[in-house]
Amino acid sequence: MSANQKKRGENMLSVIIPAYNEEKMIQTTADTVDRILSEASVPYEIVFVNDGSKDGTWQQIETAAEKNPHVNGLHFSRNFGKESAIFAGLANAEGDCCAVMDCDLQHPPEVLVSMYRLWEQGYEVVEGVKRSRGKESAIHRACAGLFYKMMSKAVKIDMSRASDFKLLDRKAVDALLGMPEKNAFFRALSSWIGYRSTSVEFDVQERTEGESKWSTWSLIKYAVTNVVAFSTAPMQFVTVAGIFTFLFAIVLGIESLVRYFTGHAVEGFTTVILLILIVGSLIMMSLGIIGYYISKIYEEVKGRPKYLISKKAGKRK
Ligand code: UDP
Ligand code: MG
Repeated sequence: MSANQKKRGENMLSVIIPAYNEEKMIQTTADTVDRILSEASVPYEIVFVNDGSKDGTWQQIETAAEKNPHVNGLHFSRNFGKESAIFAGLANAEGDCCAVMDCDLQHPPEVLVSMYRLWEQGYEVVEGVKRSRGKESAIHRACAGLFYKMMSKAVKIDMSRASDFKLLDRKAVDALLGMPEKNAFFRALSSWIGYRSTSVEFDVQERTEGESKWSTWSLIKYAVTNVVAFSTAPMQFVTVAGIFTFLFAIVLGIESLVRYFTGHAVEGFTTVILLILIVGSLIMMSLGIIGYYISKIYEEVKGRPKYLISKKAGKRK
C-alpha cells in the first residue's frame, strides 16, 4: 500500500503553493498557514512547488520542511510556469482535499478554513471568488475584463471573479489529473469538471514582499493560450470574415460588370489596391489563427511532460 492510501480518511487538507522567486515569503507563508490551520484543528500538509526560482526559494523550502514536518517541497528542473506548478502539487498531494493558494499571501489563508468547512459539508469544489481585485492599473483591469468575458463564453461559466484560490475534493483532483492535455488552465478546468460546487468570497490582499511575476506581455500570451485551449471561436471568426469579404466581392464584382457592359469601365486602380489589401490581410490573419491552433496541436502531440521534478523536500524525499 502506498503512503498515499494510508493517509486517506484522515480528512487531511493539502495546501499547494506554487513559488517562483519567493525566498522572502516562504517562512512567513508556512508559519501563517501552520498557525491558522493548527488553531482551527485542520489536519494539513503544505506542498511548496519551487518553479525554477533563481533566488534562495528552494533553501527556504528545505529549511521550512526541517522545521515543520507538515511542509513538503518539490523542486522543478527549470521554470515551467504556475499552471504546471499547480498540477505538480496536485499530483504529489496526499490529502483528501487539496487547496491551491499563492505564495505571496494575496490569498488570505483564513479563507482556507472556511473552504475546508464547506468541504466537510460535502462540497467537492470550493471556489475562491474575488470580492475586490486589489491594486491594479486601469489597463490591466480592462484587459483582464476582456479576457474573462471571452473565457466565460468559452467555458459557459461566469469567470469574471475567478481565481486560482480554490479547494478541490480528491475526486475532483483525480479528474483534473486524469486530463491528458498539456495546455491545462487550472482556473477554467476546475469549473469545467462540474461536481458539487460552491464559492467563498475573499479580498485580494496586497503583496508585502517581492513583486508580481507577470509582465504585460506574459499576461497577453497567457490569455491567448487559454482562450485557444478552451474555444474554437477565433477559427470560426475566420470563416465569418471569409463570408463577409465574399459578399463584398460579389457586390463589387456586379458593379464592375455593370460598368463594363455600359461602357463606363473605371480606371479601377483604387478598387484593385483596396481589394488586394483587404483580402491579403484577411488571409494572413486567418492563416495566423489557424497556424496558432496547429502549433498548439503540435505541442499536445509531442506529449512532453508538463514539468520535471529534480528534487523533493520533506517526509516524502
Ligand atoms: N508563480 C509561479 N511560477 C511563475 C510565476 C508565478 O509559480 O512562473 C507563482 C508565484 O510565486 C505566486 C503565484 O504564482 O505564488 C502568483 O504569482 P504573482 O503573485 O506573481 O501573480 P499576481 O498575484 O500578480 O497575479
Ligand atoms: Mg500575487
